[in-house]
Parts: sequence; C-alpha cells; structure tokens
Amino acid sequence: MSEQTIVDFRTLGLAEPLLKAIDDSGYTTPTPIQAQAIPLALQGRDLMAGAQTGTGKTAAFSLPILHTLLPLASTSTSPAKHPIRALVLAPTRELAIQVYDNIKTYAKHTPLRSLVVYGGVDIKTQTPILKTGVEILVATPGRLLDHVEQKTLSLSQVQFLVLDEADRMLDMGFMPDLKRILALLPKQRQNLMFSATFSDEIKKLADAFLNNPTLIEVARSNATNDNVEQKAYLVNSDQKQRFLVQLLKQYANQQVIVFTKTKLSASKLARALERDQIPCSAIHGDKTQKERIEALDAFKAGTISALVATDVAARGLDITDLPLVINYEISTAPEDYVHRIGRTGRAGAKGIAISLIDEDETKYFDEIEKLIKKQIPKEKATINTSTSRPRTSNAKAARADDGWFQQPYQPTTTAAAPKQVPAKSSTSKRKVVAALLGGFGFKATPQARHQAKRGAAKPRQPAEGNALAEADSIESVSIQA
Ligand code: AMP
Repeated sequence: MSEQTIVDFRTLGLAEPLLKAIDDSGYTTPTPIQAQAIPLALQGRDLMAGAQTGTGKTAAFSLPILHTLLPLASTSTSPAKHPIRALVLAPTRELAIQVYDNIKTYAKHTPLRSLVVYGGVDIKTQTPILKTGVEILVATPGRLLDHVEQKTLSLSQVQFLVLDEADRMLDMGFMPDLKRILALLPKQRQNLMFSATFSDEIKKLADAFLNNPTLIEVARSNATNDNVEQKAYLVNSDQKQRFLVQLLKQYANQQVIVFTKTKLSASKLARALERDQIPCSAIHGDKTQKERIEALDAFKAGTISALVATDVAARGLDITDLPLVINYEISTAPEDYVHRIGRTGRAGAKGIAISLIDEDETKYFDEIEKLIKKQIPKEKATINTSTSRPRTSNAKAARADDGWFQQPYQPTTTAAAPKQVPAKSSTSKRKVVAALLGGFGFKATPQARHQAKRGAAKPRQPAEGNALAEADSIESVSIQA
C-alpha cells in the first residue's frame, strides 16, 4: 500500500470494538505506518518496520494483535483462559508504560487483558496480577526474565512477539536477554520489530528472529525529520554552560529538552541551570520512577520549561509539540542524534534542534553528518556579556509559590521532589495535530492522565541484568491491571 493512499480505519478491516476505541481516541485517519503495517500484520506477516516514537507505531502493532486475539478473548475468571498470547518488549520503563497505556486504551471495549511489568520494586507485587492471567504482556527484558526465573509466568502460548525500539535495546546491551527470551517462546509465532534506525546489528537481529519479514519504512532509515531545523554552534568547552544559559534565555518561552551524555552531567547541569534561574529538572536512570513521572508531568504541564535528559531516559517520552531540543553534549553514538532530534518536529509541527560542539566533539559530529547524509550549518558561538533576561515561561510563576523550587537540586531524594502536577485531561487539552505523519484532522490523546493516576513506585532496588543497561535504565515496577 502506498503512503499516499488515504485509508480509513474501517477499510483496514478492524473489529468493531477496536474501531470504537479508535474513535474514542479521536483518531480519524491511520498514520502511514499504521496504513502500511496493519494490513500486513493482519495477514500474519512478520514485519521489520522503520518508525520512531511519534509515528503512531504502537497502534500499528497493537491493533492487529488485538484484532487477531479477539476471537480468543474470554470473560471467564479462570486464569487458564487468559494465557499470555502477545509479548511486547520495550527497552525502558517509560516506553513500556506508554505502550501499555495505549494497548489498554485500544482494548477497552474488549475483554482482553493487558499488563506492564518492569523492574525496580518488589517483584512480588506483580505476581498476583500475572496469576489472574493477561493476554498481552508489555515488559522490559530484565524484569521479564526475573519472572521467568521465579516461574510466575509462562510464555508457552505466545503467538505474537513485538520488539519495540529494537535499536535501543541493542544499544542498551539487551541482546543476551533477548536471546534468552526468544529461546523460551514457541517457534510458531508472528514477529513485529520496530526500530528508528537500521544498523547492521539491527539487520542481524532481524535475521535472527524474523521469518521472511516485510520491510516497512515511513521515513528513510537514519533520516532526520525535514520539519526540524538543525543548526550547530562551535563553542569552547569552558563556555558551553554559559552559552546554553544564553540560548535558553533567548528561547525563553519554548519548552526544551537538553541532552547530556551521562547521568552525572545531567544532574550537574540541572543544578547549574537552576542556579541560573532556569526552572528545570533532570530525568535519568538514577531517578526513581516517581521522580521521573513528576518531572515529566511538570514539564508537560509547563511548570518547568527545561528537562535535562540522558539519551536512555528520554526514550519513549511522548511529548507532542516540543519545539526545541538542545544537544548539550554530542553523543559518541551517531544514531543517538536521530533519536534526540526526533523529540521535536513531531505531529507535523516545526522544531529546532541545536547542537553545541566543543573542540573534542567535532569528530563525533562528523560521524553524525555522515549518518544523516546532511551538513548541518555551523557558526561560532558568540557569548553575550549580559544574559540577564530570565526565562518567562509559566514555570517562573510556579517557582514563586512552590517551595520545592527554592530547595537545592537533589538528584535522587524523593522527599525533595516537586509536587505532583495534575496531568492534563483529555478534555482540558486536546490538540488537533492534523498532519501527524500523514494523518488528517485527528485529535492527539494526551498520555498524561495515565501518569496522574499512577501510584508512587518505591525507590528501586538494584535490578539484575546487563551492566550497560543498568547504567542508565534503572527500572522500577508499576503494575496496572
Ligand atoms: P506512538 O508513535 O505510538 O508513540 O504514537 C504517538 C502519538 O500519536 C500517541 O499519542 C498516539 O496516541 C497518537 N496516535 C497514534 N495513532 C494516531 C492516529 N491514527 N491519529 C491520531 N493520533 C494517533
């Protein structure tokens, strides 16, 4: 099916309860990835799809799975009637929660049950719900294997396997875990793999677990979005922070994600920015789940206007309309650039991605330009002598009446976390994002209300598993039945 073909969800042949949920969500037209993937997945084909978060990929794999499982759905309370039939693996807890929230929304008029499990709090809290039986399980790989070891779930009836953000899973060193999980699944199953970038490793992974897959791409692999204006400044490392503050003040009314390479630099930078009166929060793997959700909610609500994030922590963040991304530190992995700037220019909106390149980072930026096959305009940073104009977002007003903002920045202490900002409800803010990657006139459904409902997770216990993944993807548990 060509990307130009305008299809309707009805013509895709989806079951009535799913169409009703789609309608409730305000979607009117399938996005290109949905228009391409849904018919193929309904035919039982394995897919290797090039699509990043923001393209509507979650519905692209969830809807055909739900449609196919619907005849097997049962209202019985017997756990035996609710075996795990679809397993969705996601690299980070944020993405896992987001995918789960979507699946729950699409399945709401069906008896199909879903659950998300991810590591970090007591595994025992998850077991009772698992034992009642769920057809669709969304999991991070490490926690899934913990459950396998504890024999709290069975994968023997899995018919569908989804690998979401497969490239990130490889980056995070999940390959050994994935191999172990694949060995536990029935050979006869349908596999759907989604990846924003297509490296040789991804192709190897696809060879290893996909069966004669159909390749779908909604954008050129490793391509950057044309809606995003990309520019770069050459700046000495000792002046970088000052220049960043200057930029943040220049783009005073814009919400921005500032990317750093490490958790440590994210924390340090967030503290420094707060000293410079930039209302911000850091989001990285040393933060508890509760802190991450609070930071994200505060950001979505506009209480803070800057989020300092590591690459892994930023994965799966579904923030529509983010106008600005700043690469404060250039990643050594060029693919990260594609992911980072994919946070902006979503839903057909315009975005700006600014990279600050110091003397040690030009070689990494050269690699990025090679990957994206594009030269980014560069200019030498001019540091103003006065950067006194404060950022004027509503974050500033919030600072005045929220005592938390007066306290020194605390990277991991829950006690010092900002107050929970009420998430936006679907009625308070439903944005028309007409051109989301080919969609027409639909209304985006905010995710935030799910997060507002979510209870506080306990601080994580060190989870088992891969050291690299551990370095930045500290997992914690949330169960939602
Ligand atoms: P995803 O790429 O799956 O993370 O989806 C990005 C956002 O697009 C989510 O907020 C979805 O709710 C929304 N979305 C997915 N499909 C559609 C559609 N066909 N029309 C409108 N919004 C959609």
